[in-house]
Parts: sequence; structure tokens; C-alpha cells
Amino acid sequence: VTGAPPAGVSDPADPLAAVRLAAAVARDHAPAVDREAVFPSASVATLRRYRLMAAAVPRRFGGLELDLATMTAAARILGGACGATAMIWSMHQVQVACIARHAGGNDTLVRLLRSGVADQFLVASATSERGVGGDLRTSHAHVERRAGECHLDKHATVVSYGGQADAFLVTARRGAGSPPGDQVAVLVRRADAELEQAGAAWNPMGMRGTCSPGYRIRARFGAGQVLPTPFGDVAAATMVPLSHLLWAGVWTGLATEAFDRARRFVRERTLVGGLSSGEHRLATADQLLIGLEARLADAVQRYRLVYDGGGAPTSGLGVCLNALKVAASTVSVDIAELALEICGMAGYQEDGPYTVARILRDLYSARLMIANDRLLDANALNLLLTRRD
Ligand SMILES: Cc1cc2nc3c(=O)[nH]c(=O)nc-3n(C[C@H](O)[C@H](O)[C@H](O)COP(=O)(O)OP(=O)(O)OC[C@H]3O[C@@H](n4cnc5c(N)ncnc54)[C@H](O)[C@@H]3O)c2cc1C
Repeated sequence: VTGAPPAGVSDPADPLAAVRLAAAVARDHAPAVDREAVFPSASVATLRRYRLMAAAVPRRFGGLELDLATMTAAARILGGACGATAMIWSMHQVQVACIARHAGGNDTLVRLLRSGVADQFLVASATSERGVGGDLRTSHAHVERRAGECHLDKHATVVSYGGQADAFLVTARRGAGSPPGDQVAVLVRRADAELEQAGAAWNPMGMRGTCSPGYRIRARFGAGQVLPTPFGDVAAATMVPLSHLLWAGVWTGLATEAFDRARRFVRERTLVGGLSSGEHRLATADQLLIGLEARLADAVQRYRLVYDGGGAPTSGLGVCLNALKVAASTVSVDIAELALEICGMAGYQEDGPYTVARILRDLYSARLMIANDRLLDANALNLLLTRRD
């Protein structure tokens, strides 16, 4: 933490003012973060400075308790500036929301959350696992209880900002004899864990600043660090819907930035008297963007009933949020591709005011972050088994 927030910017009445300040820093650093595939330290320091790392945490634990619409708007603003910063912020919000909403009366978790929020800690997610891929609801690793302590040993295949995280939310089977779907989530502090980077070095196509290689995580922790809510319930009520909402916010932000660059390009062209097919494509991109915004707003309203209202997550909500994720992950790419076609070579360049290269590379990760095929399969099964609500 780099100090108290400057006056005014942490005003709960306008938290998005602080998000915009953080986004300005993120925008300045985005090209270098992408080029070097390094963690966006300056952007995250600014988010910490404005206490935005605790956006999703209730006030009773020291957080900002931002509502869903504001958090989605924040993800979108950050996404327009730097996809990696926005994705790191969003993934972290999901982890702290899971801890805050599912800690129950667990004193250890509440204490760790409070002190973590005071320090604006960064929490990474380790759900992916060797041999499991993106199947969130399956684990091989298990929690082992011996001599009054718990242990786990997990080969996580993708852990964003694992090297920078202060803590990890790790999924594992409840015990050695538990089936793959009987999972718990464990809050593992950095000090509890031995981390060994595994697999290929991190040199991906996009979202390079998320720094997401694989890690073998060997942890020793107290039984109080295991979330008391079964992971299946945590996933249905918080992890899956909030992830899909905030990720969709990030991708919509990236697509909006591509759209804005294309619009400026067409304006410039029109001013110098040239005619192009850009105007038509711009209108098509706008139509897609309006659809994405409407979907996001609708999903916020539907999920609010569970997130704020304490309602039980229905299979209909799951279908809706999965559909949002699949749509946002592909429509955002369609918008950025239209922007590329509008801007031509100026868009294809890695630098310059009309480049959409980084935006497109970042957006191609969207369909892999829990493979769309998996989500469509899950939705198809749900739609066959239940009525649409
Ligand atoms: C930028 C980024 C950041 C990430 N950060 C994290 C993180 O912090 N923590 C974390 O745990 N994970 C993270 N992930 C991992 C991610 O969410 C997925 O878990 C991971 O990408 C799955 O790996 P996979 O695509 O190789 O495997 P799979 O999910 O197994 O997919 C491989 C292929 O198999 C197909 N496939 C697999 N199963 C099915 C099925 N049932 N039906 C149909 N087709 C199927 C898929 O369509 C795909 O083509 C991140 C991913 C990205 C891109």
C-alpha cells in the first residue's frame, strides 16, 4: 500500500472517479506491459492506493462494497485502458468476494480477510489443474489432514499473477477419499505455500501482463483456512456468475476501445475528404456493442437477486451467465475485427493511435478462459433438463 487515498477519489459516491485515475496509469503502461509480458505493477499500485482492491468486499470487513453495476463498469473502464490490469483486478475481486460471501462465521477467514483488505492484498485463483483443464468442478488434488495441520499439493496449470499474489484461493477435493466433485476452496497465504513454476514459460499471444504460468503449489495451513461452504455452492452463487460478469465487462471495455479508435479513424478520413466502407462497418460494430451492453445490464439485474438479495442461484441464472460469457468472448472479437478492417494497416501495426493489435490479441484469450465449448455443453444439458426461467 502506497499511502492513504487522495482526498475525494475514494468518495463512495463516485468510486468510478478513482477507477478512471487508475485506468489512466494503466493506459500509459499497457504497451510496455504487453511487450515485455510483465505484471502491471504501476496500475495495481494505483488501484491499491485508491483501495480499489477491496471493491467487492463488504464494508464490515473494511471493503468498499461496490454494487455489481459499478464493479462491471469499473472492469469495463480498466479494460479499455489495459486488458491485463482489468483482468487481474476482476479475477482478484472474484476471489475476495468468494471469501467474504462464503466465510460464514469462520474466525480465521474473517481475520485473514480483514488484514488482507487493510493491506490491499492480491489474491490469485488456482482452479485449473493438470489433467482437469478448465473443468472447474473437478479436482485431483486433495486436502490431507495430519498432525493437526492440513496439506495440499496441486499442479495448477494456469495461475494468473501467481508470482505476485499475496494469497491463493485453491480448489481441491475435501479429503483423500472424496470423489473429484466433492471440492473445497482453501485460502492459502503466500507464506503457507511453496511455489514451483511449472510447464512452459509464460509467452502467450495476449493478456501477457496477467503473467499466468503453471505452478506446483505445496501448502501447509490450518483447518480454519478451508471455506466452510462446499465449493460447488461457492461456484454457483459467486465464482462463476461474478467471473462471467466481470470478464464480460473487461472484454466489452477492450471492444469499446477498439470501436473508439475506429471511429476516430473514420472521422479523420472523412475530414480529409476520403470515402470508405468504414462508416458502414462502424455502424455494424456499434450495433454489436449495443447488444453487448444490453446483455451485460440484463445479467447484472438477474444476478443482483442472488448477489444482493441472498436468493439461491437457479440453473436459469447459470445458463444466462454462461451465455453472457460465450457471447461477450466472441462478439467483442467481432467488434475488434471490424475495427481492424476499418483502420487497415494503421490498426494492424502494434503502435500508433489506431492500433487494435494488442486489443485483438488480448480478446482471443476470452474464449479459452473456461473453454466456450464446455459452457455451451453445460448449458445444453441444463436446457434439456430444466425449463427456461
Ligand atoms: C488469460 C488467462 C488467464 C487465466 N487465469 C487463470 C487463473 O488465474 N487460474 C486458473 O485456475 N485458471 C486460469 N486460466 C485457465 C482457464 O480459465 C482454463 O481453465 C484453461 O484455459 C483451460 O485450459 P485448456 O484450454 O488447455 O483446457 P480445456 O478446458 O481442457 O480445453 C482444451 C480443449 O478441449 C475442449 N474441451 C475440453 N472439455 C470439453 C468439453 N467437456 N466439451 C467440449 N469441449 C471440451 C475445449 O473446447 C478446448 O478446445 C486462465 C486462462 C487464460 C486464457
